[in-house]
Amino acid sequence: ISSKLPDVGTTIFTVMSKLATDCNAINLAQGFPGFDCFPFLHDLVTKYISEGYNQYAPMSGVPIFKQRIAEKTKLVYGVDFNGESEVTVVSGATEALFAAVTAVVRPGDEVILLEPSYDSYAPAVVLNGGLPVYVSLNLPDFSVDWDKVKSAITDKTRLIMVNTPHNPCGYVWTQDDLNTLAELIQDREIYVVSDEVYEHITFDGRKHLPLFSHPLLKERTFACGSFGKTFHITGWKIGYCLAPEKLTIEFRKIHQFLTFSTATPLQYALADFMVEPSRYLHLNDFYQNKRDLFCQGLKNTPFEFTPSQGSFFQTVYYGHLSQESDYDLAIRMTKELGVASIPVSVFYHDKTDHKLLRFCFAKEDDVLEKALDLLQKPF
Ligand code: PMP
Ligand code: GLN
Repeated sequence: ISSKLPDVGTTIFTVMSKLATDCNAINLAQGFPGFDCFPFLHDLVTKYISEGYNQYAPMSGVPIFKQRIAEKTKLVYGVDFNGESEVTVVSGATEALFAAVTAVVRPGDEVILLEPSYDSYAPAVVLNGGLPVYVSLNLPDFSVDWDKVKSAITDKTRLIMVNTPHNPCGYVWTQDDLNTLAELIQDREIYVVSDEVYEHITFDGRKHLPLFSHPLLKERTFACGSFGKTFHITGWKIGYCLAPEKLTIEFRKIHQFLTFSTATPLQYALADFMVEPSRYLHLNDFYQNKRDLFCQGLKNTPFEFTPSQGSFFQTVYYGHLSQESDYDLAIRMTKELGVASIPVSVFYHDKTDHKLLRFCFAKEDDVLEKALDLLQKPF
């Protein structure tokens, strides 16, 4: 069979998690919490399953759940979305991203991707016949180079994909970033897919600014969220897309043929669970403690780093120590040191190697401490 994605192999997350298991290494590679969700959430799911909420949910989501998502958005960001017509429940942000890209990208359309970029973006564009146009983020802070973005825009540009807080680099968009993007696209028919799965994980007093908090961007944006990150349930694969009604109509046309709907008991359980805002608003502090613990420990290693601004990832630089490729180093450290990480080059289309590794610090403190001990002598 001739491959539709000839340049794509098995994702690095699968590769590194398997290697970590095979080597009995601490897995700071694939991003998932090393702890469970609140037990109350288990009870709610069990309750709804035993009460018979076990058949298909409505295609766009259970009404009360969509309503709660709209209420949360209003409470946290002060922005209105109509629960019925502008909120769609999906089976993970990965689905939301794919459906949103599919809703707008036609063959030959150009899509701006800011690199390093999460690994599912480019395949979604390519499978829809779109042409990824890569713009690299500024080093070392991974801020957006707006001059480069401006010169990448052409008459064929249909979409820009944004990720804030950023995986793998932890950059958090500023109001200036939002304003500049709005200026650049206001006179063109360019849409935005905004991946905001780490919306509740920002540090040092930074506030996550959803792209829909800017009035012009709100009209153009598919905002993709995930409960996996927010409630420590990545295995549930449940998320949502917020978009104006006109965009949501097109989004749902795709969603209904990708998955049709999302697990019913999970939607009812989360609808009940999320009424209490402290259940997601505590995450900034919770993860800041972990970031601080991890960064404090990193000071005793030879790596260089700037503390992450958001997400549950910390990247580190080792180019002053070795010229080994980041991929080889990540593999070797897993095998020899017993700590798995992700080489950042995998997030560049041409595998640009800036000698950076990404660590996930969403782990129990004792696991982080153990990993930090091992990381003191990586070379
Ligand atoms: N976007 C980013 C930036 C992610 O890191 C992830 C995964 N953790 C996803 C999307 C996918 O989210 P989900 O597991 O809800 O599909
Ligand atoms: N988003 C997670 C990460 O960045 C991985 C999700 C996946 O394995 N597909 O590590």
